[in-house]
Amino acid sequence: MKILITGGCGFIGGALIRKLLTTTDHEILNLDKFGYASDHSSIDQTINQLKTNKYKLFKIDLNNKNKLEEIIQNFEPDLIMHLAAESHVDRSIESPEHFIESNILGTFNLLESCRKFFDSLSIEKKSKFIFHHISTDEVFGSLGEKGRFSESTPYDPRSPYSASKASSDHLVRSWYHTYGLPVIVTNCSNNFGPWQFPEKLIPLVTLKAIHSEKIPIYGDGSNVRDWLFVEDHVDALILSAMKGEIGETYCIGGFGERTNLEVVEKICDILDDLTPKSFKHKDLISFVKDRKGHDQRYSINSEKIQSELNWEPKHSFDDGLLKTVEWYLKNENIFNTMQNN
Ligand code: NAD
Repeated sequence: MKILITGGCGFIGGALIRKLLTTTDHEILNLDKFGYASDHSSIDQTINQLKTNKYKLFKIDLNNKNKLEEIIQNFEPDLIMHLAAESHVDRSIESPEHFIESNILGTFNLLESCRKFFDSLSIEKKSKFIFHHISTDEVFGSLGEKGRFSESTPYDPRSPYSASKASSDHLVRSWYHTYGLPVIVTNCSNNFGPWQFPEKLIPLVTLKAIHSEKIPIYGDGSNVRDWLFVEDHVDALILSAMKGEIGETYCIGGFGERTNLEVVEKICDILDDLTPKSFKHKDLISFVKDRKGHDQRYSINSEKIQSELNWEPKHSFDDGLLKTVEWYLKNENIFNTMQNN
């Protein structure tokens, strides 16, 4: 297959490309604008190990419509996996316009370029083409103590990030209903793992704790997220794209509901074991003013993808977190370089 991946220099896109290159013979084209959170060294390492020529990168913003159309027409993808997005809620509160540009207009341009390409295909090729849109559980809003999000939960986004992702989900589904573009949508809970840019909770806290710096926690730390190890998300993405049904949505959950405080304390416990200091890492915790409009709880019901596509995560939250903290201990310098770029 020829697979076009957008946002492949990001955290999840990078994990997806590494997995596809190491376990399949598919040809991969990665389109990424190479933003502040992008990194290519993980993919470089994989390419050097495998000595493969089945991978290409184009540095391009999805808002460069003409170039985007040309690249898609020339590459002739069988599958598009669309991950490119601005992804950090705090940044969306500070500068929402970047989220409108990338997540809404970027997705619109990609859909239009794909529609032109799709319309030019033979009937046989049309029957094989898939546009897979990768989204988040944050589009569903915020839960109280009970309940879980599922494919039929009404949308109720509350931050500029989640609203921009919700808009992109709606655009993708409307291109299916209106133009017959064969789409699949997945909505996943919070990911964690190696190579995540240290503005998100787990890498931020891990690096702060490694450097014995104060660890900031929003509010009282009671917000709950449903954590999923990134490699398990990648397996679910590949399964959905290859075996999922056109027009369908799959919710992907983590089976790892934890309050932010529990997550931070667990990271501290792991570091107490791996790199003991004269103080407990938990002593570094400091509660700071809550994020505006902070969603209280996310939780996903993954029964559909489990029963229809036979997916289940291979990592427990604790196993994934240990792997992640060990990785950040070994690779803390990578992020000094990225942040200075
Ligand atoms: P990330 O911020 O690490 O990476 C996003 C990548 O997209 C970056 O390399 C960036 O340069 C690229 N990009 C952004 N705007 C672009 C544009 N206009 N043109 C070209 N490239 C652009 O994000 P991530 O955590 O890897 O998330 C990937 C996708 O998965 C996003 O769509 C996100 O909404 C979704 N998602 C993330 C999580 C999570 O916990 N991280 C959970 C569920 C869904």
